[in-house]
Amino acid sequence: MSTKQVLIFVEQEDGCARPVAFELLGAGRMLANKLGAELAAFVACDSVGELPETLVAHGADRVYVAEHPELATYRTLPYRRVLIDLIAAMDTPPHIVLFGSTTTGRDLAPRIAAYFETGLTADCTELDIGPYEHTNAQDPSKVGLYPDCLYAIRPSFGESLKARILGPWKNPQMATVRSGVMVPLAPDATRTGVVQSVPVHLESADLQLVVAETLRSLGEQVELQGAEVIVSGGYGLGNPEGFALMYQLAACFENSAVGSSRKAVDAGWIAHAHQVGQTGKTVRPKLYIACGISGAIQHRVGMDKSATIVAINKDSNAPIFKFAHHGIVGDLHQVIPELIRQLKLQKT
Ligand code: FAD
Repeated sequence: MSTKQVLIFVEQEDGCARPVAFELLGAGRMLANKLGAELAAFVACDSVGELPETLVAHGADRVYVAEHPELATYRTLPYRRVLIDLIAAMDTPPHIVLFGSTTTGRDLAPRIAAYFETGLTADCTELDIGPYEHTNAQDPSKVGLYPDCLYAIRPSFGESLKARILGPWKNPQMATVRSGVMVPLAPDATRTGVVQSVPVHLESADLQLVVAETLRSLGEQVELQGAEVIVSGGYGLGNPEGFALMYQLAACFENSAVGSSRKAVDAGWIAHAHQVGQTGKTVRPKLYIACGISGAIQHRVGMDKSATIVAINKDSNAPIFKFAHHGIVGDLHQVIPELIRQLKLQKT
């Protein structure tokens, strides 16, 4: 394999790709087009079913499939082994390798980067391709123009700065990408791609950890990232009972979910799975209703790509009004019951 390649790691469960895989395909397609490269996806599982066709429809040119009973559920060492074996067997390593900035991606990506002694930028929110000219004569071996660098862009210093991080000297250039940020491509069933089986050679040392049982907390069932409407509550709700109002408002919409600010989570009013923002989830629903949320930068970065933002806040100077599309200045305990009443009236 000597074609320039962008490779993404596909997280799957029971043969279904997680949403972040489609987001990575969207971002990977854009990078591959800029590089004139092939977009490849790597999936490890026990039975791949129709997943490769789905990945091709979402933008992959090639799908590497590692199928083995021991790869049914994610485990660090077997997954590390097959991915390292795949990359090491290539004539030329992939130009770029991307992972979701999820628990799995954050666990696996550094191990791959460490093995190949290459750079890894964590938790990116933007990616691009561009040149880099290195003029530092202290290291003459690296001086020169590097044309096709991965620009791995991520917030830093509490999201007040955007850092563009480059690792031009060695491929693969690697990054983990925050979930909910990149836009998946609409599936195109007419796309064609190559499905390539990859050999799986696991050693007993890879299999020492056994997954006995998978338990799901209720928190994991919060489908914030798939919701079209998110009603989010902040510290301005006043107490945990304020979230009952959030659920009532959310129930007025189809495909809705309840989100929250970190301050409400830290107060113990609602589970962390609902948190939107820098240390929570990144969402981009059609409608985001922020209730009693001041609009701190750490909250904003998780929701400011929503198509329409409505803010309800009693302080007309609250920062959220600077980026909300519509604002209601008032006490949420008065505004929201009236809003619910009006929405219900519209339905009858
Ligand atoms: P406040 O800032 O206290 O705002 C409450 C708002 O409610 C005020 O604007 C007030 O006017 C309004 N209000 C009060 N009563 C009413 C009422 N009756 N009716 C209407 N409005 C009312 N925050 C996040 O949200 N997500 C994150 O992921 C996140 N990550 C962070 C990471 C780091 C490293 C740090 C340092 C901070 C992070 N934060 C995060 C915290 C963030 O800085 C803010 O503290 C937090 O977002 C504030 O939450 P809030 O808007 O609910 O509370």
